[in-house]
Amino acid sequence: MPTEVDYDIALVGAGPAGTAAALALRGSGLRVLLLDKAAFPRDKICGDAVPGHALKALRQLDPAYVDALWELEPRDEVRRSRIVAPSGASFYMHWNLRTFNSPRLDFDAALLGLVRRFTDTEIRENASLKTLEITPDYAHLHLADGTAITARLVIGCDGANSVVGRRLLPEPRLARAHHSAGVRAYFENVAGTESGTTEFFFSQNYLAGYCWLFPVGAGRYNVGLGMLSELVAQHKVDLKQLLLDTVATHPELAGRFREARQLGPVLGFGLPMG
Ligand SMILES: Cc1cc2nc3c(=O)[nH]c(=O)nc-3n(C[C@H](O)[C@H](O)[C@H](O)COP(=O)(O)OP(=O)(O)OC[C@H]3O[C@@H](n4cnc5c(N)ncnc54)[C@H](O)[C@@H]3O)c2cc1C
Repeated sequence: MPTEVDYDIALVGAGPAGTAAALALRGSGLRVLLLDKAAFPRDKICGDAVPGHALKALRQLDPAYVDALWELEPRDEVRRSRIVAPSGASFYMHWNLRTFNSPRLDFDAALLGLVRRFTDTEIRENASLKTLEITPDYAHLHLADGTAITARLVIGCDGANSVVGRRLLPEPRLARAHHSAGVRAYFENVAGTESGTTEFFFSQNYLAGYCWLFPVGAGRYNVGLGMLSELVAQHKVDLKQLLLDTVATHPELAGRFREARQLGPVLGFGLPMG
């Protein structure tokens, strides 16, 4: 006979995927555990642009979630994108769905706040999943601090380097051709920016990739560069240096960044896209 199980569902990772799953399970009557190796607020390397469809999906769960997120600060409401070609020519795309950019440090903490406020989910921070064992009865989660947890179902929401994915998904887990690398840094005092506008710069120098400039509220900008990982490896591209070179030498950006101040280091992370 199986022993008593600790939880019906264990959600590993409390980023957007894990918190959305916890919100979706509200009222299910199931015992849900949401665990994360970090303590929130925690940073996540990202462009900080919240897709309108993400807010739409949250609204379908409960409009109160989205109403609460619109109270979040800092935040910059986004209405359009400006796309800049290598030639310097540009055009605007206007968005149908209302949305905003906000630093993931704040946005993810706000999502976890919704889980705390609206659900009975048990939340454990500083709880890093080390190994996962599946037996006919349960999933057995072993945490780095030695804690053992059992659950009827485990949902891997632990991001691009998922421990759950490594244990459960068959090889190959990632389509290498669709894997990108991205870097970003925060800046302030960038000239020529327009609130409500995200900007994308394409250049012959970036191979298959682009540079972005996203307002995130409070006069700050998330500035980043993403490129297919295979090209980064093949051409030995130093993405962090390329980002700094780009804002210093790009025909349009160089002037706009002349008086800009960089806030913190350039940081990078993998970006699997399929
Ligand atoms: C440079 C870059 C720019 C991007 N820009 C954008 C953008 O502008 N807009 C957009 O929509 N998307 C963007 N993305 C993609 C976006 O960041 C991801 O799609 C999103 O974060 C995925 O959410 P998630 O909840 O699945 O994982 P994550 O946000 O990565 O969250 C995973 C969570 O799991 C936790 N975790 C990891 N391992 C363990 C473990 N072993 N035990 C316990 N917890 C664990 C982590 O601490 C983390 O909190 C960007 C990505 C990169 C790299």
